Amino acid sequence: MIDLYGLTMNELEALLESWDEPRFRARQVWSWLYDSRVRNFDDMRNLPLPLRERLKKEAALGSLELEAEETSIDGTIKRLYRLPDGQLIESVLMEYDDERRTACISSQAGCAMGCVFCATGQMGFSRHLTSDEIFEQALYFARDLEARGERLSNVVFMGMGEPFHNYDASIEAVRRLMSDLGIGARHITVSTVGLVPMIRRFADEGLQVKLAVSLHAATDSERDTLLPVNRRWSLKELVNACHYYVDMTGRRVSFEWTLIQGENDTPEQALALGRLLHGLKCHVNVIPLNPTTGYHGGPSAAGRVETFIAVLAEHGIPATVRVRRGIDIDAGCGQLKSKVLRRRREQAKMGAAAAADVELGLEDALPEQAGDEFDGDLGGSVADIEDGVDFDDIQ
Ligand code: SAH
Ligand code: SF4
Repeated sequence: MIDLYGLTMNELEALLESWDEPRFRARQVWSWLYDSRVRNFDDMRNLPLPLRERLKKEAALGSLELEAEETSIDGTIKRLYRLPDGQLIESVLMEYDDERRTACISSQAGCAMGCVFCATGQMGFSRHLTSDEIFEQALYFARDLEARGERLSNVVFMGMGEPFHNYDASIEAVRRLMSDLGIGARHITVSTVGLVPMIRRFADEGLQVKLAVSLHAATDSERDTLLPVNRRWSLKELVNACHYYVDMTGRRVSFEWTLIQGENDTPEQALALGRLLHGLKCHVNVIPLNPTTGYHGGPSAAGRVETFIAVLAEHGIPATVRVRRGIDIDAGCGQLKSKVLRRRREQAKMGAAAAADVELGLEDALPEQAGDEFDGDLGGSVADIEDGVDFDDIQ
């Protein structure tokens, strides 16, 4: 199958020419792909029937296959997609009372960064996504919204994976979101755990895309325990890179802070954070932890959240408490995939014959134990990172 969304205009022209179609066909098809964003070939009404039939047989309108979908009471839609090689990834669509429709997309299947509280980190790394696979997650939401007269307005790279560990494909996807989906740079946010050389490279791109940095702790000793990546790049190096980003782009940095009761929600951490961010154009988004099965911690109580914010305010650091959306459908990064896999395992154990086949495919997609199947660029596992994995290929 040829994924038409994986072709450039030149490649589409070459394909249709090889099918003996007149030159103008490529432009027609392109317009159906990117202006009308139709969901099936029958809707490409100005194409002759034999061509539509051939496209149906030999081509596809995207490479992602919907494996599971859940809708939250707050309207959040969470999807699990199966990739052609069996990998599973998640995307979320968040709908707000204003016109905003925000897609949260994945950049990798799994993640090698091993943040202890993150369901994706707990799975380990399977592989990088291609730029097409990243782009198509937003495209699918865009075309579904369009079919009901709405528009995808924002995209955040806050699904599974670390976008700066898959830098080139992520940036290529960002460019396509702008050029092919018409999403403004200011409405795209790339979130990173803090790969310092890549933050600097991103600052040099000359894009007006927003940067979010997952901070979660304001002292190296605390951050080392939550985010193994901190052992490679210290808070000082990270904050210096953030200053560089602000200097180069004129944009503020958003910091993400997942509040974990009794862990990183103390007034001391808030004080350290106020000092750390002093003089930096930034904003802090505070999000109570979404509990995961692989981590003992829980979300901070309301009173502790308030105190945390109050201490930041004393230091002149603007902060917003974000509501956890889709909490009833495991909309936290990596959680739907974990749940579906657990359910499938239970089904298989109960001897559901049909489920067993599916189970095999799913097992292929998920390393049973984090670390077993790591073969990514980092050449490492969570354990390797903890042992001081070589991050030198991230330059
Ligand atoms: N890898 C990137 C982007 C994906 S994670 C990054 O880490 O920034 C998107 C955000 O969700 C990050 O800020 C991450 O720390 C946060 N997150 C992960 N697990 C979470 C959980 N269980 N509860 C709340 N936030 C979580
Ligand atoms: Fe990876 Fe981000 Fe999860 Fe950390 S929080 S493990 S970087 S996806």
